Amino acid sequence: MIPPIANKFVAGETPQEAIDHVQTLNDRDVNGILNLLGEHYEEADPANADADTYLELIDDIEQAGVDSCISVKPSQIGLGVGRDLFERNLSRIAERGDEANVFVWVDMEDHTTTDATLDAYESLVRDYGGNMGICLQANLRRTREDLERLSNAPGKVRIVKGAYSEPDDIAYTKKDRVDAVYRDLIEYMFSEFEDGVAIGSHDPAVIAHAKQLHREHETPYEVQMLMGVRTDAQRDLAADGVEVYQYVPYGSKWFSYFYRRIRERKENLAFALRAIVS
Ligand code: FAD
Repeated sequence: MIPPIANKFVAGETPQEAIDHVQTLNDRDVNGILNLLGEHYEEADPANADADTYLELIDDIEQAGVDSCISVKPSQIGLGVGRDLFERNLSRIAERGDEANVFVWVDMEDHTTTDATLDAYESLVRDYGGNMGICLQANLRRTREDLERLSNAPGKVRIVKGAYSEPDDIAYTKKDRVDAVYRDLIEYMFSEFEDGVAIGSHDPAVIAHAKQLHREHETPYEVQMLMGVRTDAQRDLAADGVEVYQYVPYGSKWFSYFYRRIRERKENLAFALRAIVS
């Protein structure tokens, strides 16, 4: 069982617990994005096993009838072993997602994986129409070009600020610069991605800007936030008619994810401690 502090950020160890959590979100008009917590694998067996678990998770989502998509990390389904294995596993997941009408997101990891992730995604999204999406990171200098490349492809793009520390020649490393570039990229997406824009951010200024751009362009948009972060805002946005998704991690490998959430913001620790004492 996940202990009290961690269960604010992780839905449980089993798919059933994760789906139960999504059901409570759906009751408040918030959709789920289920993510099986895993590792960067250097061997094929565990990568294949996690890909198999994703296939089962898609079945579970279909059977439960909850509003949830899934999000997978490339290194968890074989990219650390090689492109071929990653592409095979992502293809299996995309195919099953398409059959079950469960949307498949591909998370983005550090810059050494960007080309392989984009290439695999781009070839699959053309086969599986609009049932897939990919995350792109505003801190990478290349992202404007990647967005141009994807602007004519089906599928969705989740634009985020970027979670990985990257070298200067590849990425903007100052927070102000990343925030400004993020704003520009979102503006570009609202004018060029008529099928919709996915904003992966907790930043109130960013979300207000997206709302304004939606009024100007009428481009549909959704806001995605993590489980345990600005939960009230998630509920308020949904009540206001915004399409909101909560990224819901689950699984036995929860500790390092939880530890990252706590390290990145002292408010998360305060919040977690309040949850214990109240
Ligand atoms: P920040 O710049 O961290 O914060 C801006 C403002 O937001 C703060 O001043 C505060 O007002 C508010 N805020 C932020 N955090 C909190 C908090 N804990 N509590 C209260 N208020 C807060 N990164 C990747 O590299 N690859 C991915 O695939 C990826 N997928 C993601 C999926 C989702 C759904 C989300 C939400 C993020 C994802 N990220 C991913 C992480 C992303 O790149 C950022 O690192 C992360 O979202 C922090 O940036 P931010 O825009 O939320 O705001």
